[in-house]
Amino acid sequence: MTDRSVIDLPAAVEGRVLFQEPLARYTTYRIGGPAAALVEPHNSTDVVRTVEFARERGVPWTVIGLGSNLLVGDRGFPGIVLRMGKAIGEIWEGGLDRSVWRVGAGFPIPLLARRTAECGWAGVHRLIGVPGTVGGGVYMNAGAHGQEFKDVVREVTLVTADGTVETRRTSDLAWRYRASGLGNVAVLEVTVEFAPEQPKRLHAEIESHLTWRKAGTPFTEACCGSVFRNPAAPVAGPHGELRTAGQLIAAAGMKGFRVGGAVVSPVHANYIVNTGAATARDVLDVIDTVRKRVVEAFDVELELEVRIVGEE
Ligand SMILES: Cc1cc2nc3c(=O)[nH]c(=O)nc-3n(C[C@H](O)[C@H](O)[C@H](O)COP(=O)(O)OP(=O)(O)OC[C@H]3O[C@@H](n4cnc5c(N)ncnc54)[C@H](O)[C@@H]3O)c2cc1C
Repeated sequence: MTDRSVIDLPAAVEGRVLFQEPLARYTTYRIGGPAAALVEPHNSTDVVRTVEFARERGVPWTVIGLGSNLLVGDRGFPGIVLRMGKAIGEIWEGGLDRSVWRVGAGFPIPLLARRTAECGWAGVHRLIGVPGTVGGGVYMNAGAHGQEFKDVVREVTLVTADGTVETRRTSDLAWRYRASGLGNVAVLEVTVEFAPEQPKRLHAEIESHLTWRKAGTPFTEACCGSVFRNPAAPVAGPHGELRTAGQLIAAAGMKGFRVGGAVVSPVHANYIVNTGAATARDVLDVIDTVRKRVVEAFDVELELEVRIVGEE
């Protein structure tokens, strides 16, 4: 049944509004209960109007991109989910200074990696295997193989929780490993700056990173990428230093550990995959057990990288 607090939302926006929409359809985990309303904004005005609508009625709201870093609870999200897709995904390649591009939040990261590399610009090409949107990538400060969004972002244009459109400089953001410190906002657009490099060299790097991904991660399975952040410092293991969360989890003997349909991937231990019918509860139980075992084995508390949304 449609929640009465969101029933007037279609009159406020041009884009599509879906009521009681299962969020499993919008996450790479393929897990998650319904949102009271899911909005696919048609333009940035729709984003502002949705945020204002939510604020006036006291309804919780959140933003998603491709849903590639999300674990949505089995009972879903009791509010409005703004899904930033193609309509908020325009790209403006270079201006007077051709190294500076503007990119809409809904633009896919792998496409940006390829497009910039083809034009001879380095900075995000190593993010070729990060399957999210630019908005999600900036929000998470996504990174791979030594590149992170924080190193290329110059400005972020966003909608604040009170519905104001603001442009923030990168120096105003609280960047850290896999976080931008942006809080409860909707990113609309980012300005990014790249460095010149030979397209041939960039293409070769892209191919080698893709080969690594295909061999070293469960690339085609339902998952959210890395579940845990890497530890701040290396930890002494039985056969040398352990630098990543995956190495710690594997050394704690957790590869293949399963609860219901959720399994610690035997290919890469920092990936907990949905083998078909996993619930959010299954994944959370695996997360709890992995954390406990890593504390017991190495006295290290693993921090979550995946974002938990909604109710269990
Ligand atoms: C197979 C696989 C491999 C991965 N590899 C990597 C990797 O190498 N490195 C890495 O860093 N990540 C990796 N990830 C995780 C994920 O792809 C990144 O975190 C990505 O940047 C998330 O983008 P998204 O659009 O999917 O965001 P979502 O998952 O939809 O959202 C993630 C967070 O960002 C917020 N958000 C999303 N869009 C906006 C917006 N427009 N405005 C405000 N907030 C927003 C959401 O509220 C949420 O808190 C991987 C995931 C998978 C499935």
